[in-house]
Amino acid sequence: MTTPPRQHGLTTTLLHSDRRFGVEHGAMHKPVHPSVAFGYEDARDLAAAFQGTKAGYTYGRSGSPTSAALEAKITALEQGTGTVCFATGMAAIGHTLLSLLRAGDHMVASRFLFGNTTSLFGTLALQGIAIDEADVTDVANVEAALRPTTRVVFLETVANPRTQVADLARIGALCAERGILYIVDNTMTSPVLFNPKQVGAGLVMNSLTKYIGGHGNALGGAITDTGLFDWTRFPHIHEAYRSAKPAMWGLTQIRKKGLRDMGGTMAPESAHHIAVGAETLALRMERICANALRLAGWLEQQPQVAHVDYPGLASHPQHARAAQLFGGRYGGLLAFELAEGIDCFDFLNRLQLVVSSTHLGDNRTLGIAVAHTIYFEMGREKRAAQGIAESLIRISVGIEDADDLLADFAQALAA
Ligand SMILES: *Cc1c(COP(=O)(O)O)cnc(C)c1O
Repeated sequence: MTTPPRQHGLTTTLLHSDRRFGVEHGAMHKPVHPSVAFGYEDARDLAAAFQGTKAGYTYGRSGSPTSAALEAKITALEQGTGTVCFATGMAAIGHTLLSLLRAGDHMVASRFLFGNTTSLFGTLALQGIAIDEADVTDVANVEAALRPTTRVVFLETVANPRTQVADLARIGALCAERGILYIVDNTMTSPVLFNPKQVGAGLVMNSLTKYIGGHGNALGGAITDTGLFDWTRFPHIHEAYRSAKPAMWGLTQIRKKGLRDMGGTMAPESAHHIAVGAETLALRMERICANALRLAGWLEQQPQVAHVDYPGLASHPQHARAAQLFGGRYGGLLAFELAEGIDCFDFLNRLQLVVSSTHLGDNRTLGIAVAHTIYFEMGREKRAAQGIAESLIRISVGIEDADDLLADFAQALAA
């Protein structure tokens, strides 16, 4: 399903997207279609659906009408040319890279990636894909890591947990100049704060589990083609997918070699939950960003807090870059270190509203001691290299009333 350029604002587009595609019985939402198989009156039409000469569904592993409706929404949010949805964000990343890269290829990846993505890249390295990590806050580090075999540069807009902001525009210009596929994970910013297309990304990844779904009740991931990358310059497109327009080559290979063959398919029920959650994405992001900015500024002034990482603070090394790229909003994730002698677990236990939980982008504010949980497997040495202190606390700020949140942090610090 392709989508024309976005004519309305983001929320209007989301609210009316399903109706534009002719929803059954006038329903306001795309129905949940759990059918695995799809029957055809004319056997030739089934053949045409297989051959891609006629639009149609064949088997649920390759997608459903419900996930297709969500794909159209994500395409509109990212101003792209098409989207493939997956069961999780990790499935989106894994299926995409496994379907596009081969042994002998080289990839430059951010040094500050989501932990599971780093772990996945370790697995890819074992399959013969060479990967170099670079500090992506400066394009010079990416340029220094490039090789003649570099096919992909992969990074996140804002890193987790320490919120480094990538040198997004200049790395995009470098990739364009060298004909390298630029893949940007936009999960932390969401399409409300940022469209990676504006800095030249060829593919955009979103974990729909986080801000887009927003309610912590469904997993999902998406890969969107922005239409900017020239797939004729990519050497690994299979002959079978070269018959269509070159603009379709990348996503076709990702859908067939990735989604169809590896099977990390989004459940129709999940697509429905995420689509409903996404209706309030822009409203939630405004509130989340306002809460986070206020909390980060307040925390920075407390004597019991040694350091705060948040792109909205003037003290953040990439504050000016974030201000320019993200329209004066800085996201919902912050990290901080408590002063010497305050135990991070005791502090988290004193918080009443903030839930001790991994996950981010939920409506509820969540806190976690990162070194002992999500970065435990990495080991102390690599943590130190990433600047992750043993006492670092990550907060994913929710939509609670800001006064209540501040009061909760105040009582937990005072004790
Ligand atoms: C959570 C997350 C992912 C993975 O998404 P899942 O839906 O949990 O599989 C990838 N990248 C970033 C930046 C994330 O925060």
